[in-house]
Amino acid sequence: MLVSRNLISLNLSSSNVNRITSIAKDMNKLSDRISRLAESETLAMTRRSRELKEQGFDVINLSIGQPDFNTPDYIKDAAREALDQNYTFYPPVNGYLDLRKAIALKLKRDNGLEYSPEQIVVSTGAKQALANTMLSLVNPGDEVIVPAPYWVSYREIVKLAEGTSVVISAGVETDFKVTPAQLEQAITPKSKIFIFSSPCNPTGSVYSREELASLAAVFEKHPEIYIISDEIYELINFKGKHESIAQFASIRNRVIIINGVSKGFAMTGWRLGYCVADLEIAKACDKIQGQFTSGASSISQRAAIAAVLTNPAESEELQNMIATFKRRRDLFLKLINEIPGFKTNVPDGAFYFFPEVTWYFGKKNGETVIANSTDLCNYLLDKAHVALVPGEAFGNPNCIRLSYATSDKELIEAAKRIKETLALLK
Ligand code: PMP
Ligand code: GLU
Repeated sequence: MLVSRNLISLNLSSSNVNRITSIAKDMNKLSDRISRLAESETLAMTRRSRELKEQGFDVINLSIGQPDFNTPDYIKDAAREALDQNYTFYPPVNGYLDLRKAIALKLKRDNGLEYSPEQIVVSTGAKQALANTMLSLVNPGDEVIVPAPYWVSYREIVKLAEGTSVVISAGVETDFKVTPAQLEQAITPKSKIFIFSSPCNPTGSVYSREELASLAAVFEKHPEIYIISDEIYELINFKGKHESIAQFASIRNRVIIINGVSKGFAMTGWRLGYCVADLEIAKACDKIQGQFTSGASSISQRAAIAAVLTNPAESEELQNMIATFKRRRDLFLKLINEIPGFKTNVPDGAFYFFPEVTWYFGKKNGETVIANSTDLCNYLLDKAHVALVPGEAFGNPNCIRLSYATSDKELIEAAKRIKETLALLK
């Protein structure tokens, strides 16, 4: 309206006014919100690797974080039964009661935590559980403390909620873990949330009980801060027992646990996650979900009951999967340590390595100069046909992320290609 009125005052013909107005409209088609949002770098790298594969290149994709196992048969059977029993109608927005009861049982059995089914909201993947929680808690301008390296989507979800991320960083020397002193320093009167994952994507680091206790002690002094504890890699933990920050009773009502079946049960495509929270927050997540998606797929929910009722300690299938990841971790650690200039921690969980690679910055091969980790990943994709993710996406531009959720054969071949291609950089 304003544009056309101003153009008319310039004495332009009406057809020109219409043309210019429609160009102006096109330029403003998308919201500022979407312009500010970055594409998920993990998914973008996977897309690029798929495109190269389609062109006939033999690409090894170490960029996506998903188990390469099939979903166990007994879980698939539960989905088939659900279809036969006509679980094809809208489920309750926050999830079927028997699924939420099964999750409450799992929390007691595996984590020693007591929650009621009303405190659980089942969502379309852990990703939606995270978004629901963030949108339920963050007001414009609120600060969300995010330890880096962080998972790629945290800061983008904060942006969507119009919050401000406050990043605190930890490097490879400290196993990428932040200290209570760093946390204390980052807290301001605007701090609303602290969000982290343990086991961590992208570093594989696992906070010990003592380390979590020392962070909890800081939160005790700041009762206005909520803690989002992303435990999606709970089962892929080589250190032994999973430790949740929700175990500290003094802060438990402010902890929101995010979890799901994607990683531990090889169910990424089923899109099934959940949050566990104080009743008021759970109700808020339910309200948001009621307007956005109406809840997670009915069939996936029925399958998830079979998954979460599985006692990991007694499941041969799960124990085999975890043992396979650990064996691959050890194999890949050895191979990575043989690549000059890669500095890595020993990841205790998840299925990623996040080596520091600054040794290569400033080096070149012909016209190609490596200025940062994005250049390095592009170089390795183009020349070695190995897809990785630049550390920038996770808040540490000195590192790159390699997923080892693939076969030994591919890991050996990928490490060989990376080593040989990097050796060409002078
Ligand atoms: N949190 C972390 C740390 C992750 O790596 C992922 C990746 N899938 C998610 C959340 C999202 O999980 P989902 O696939 O269940 O949405
Ligand atoms: N979480 C996985 C990853 O980090 C899957 C991709 C995504 O959801 O971004 O690679």
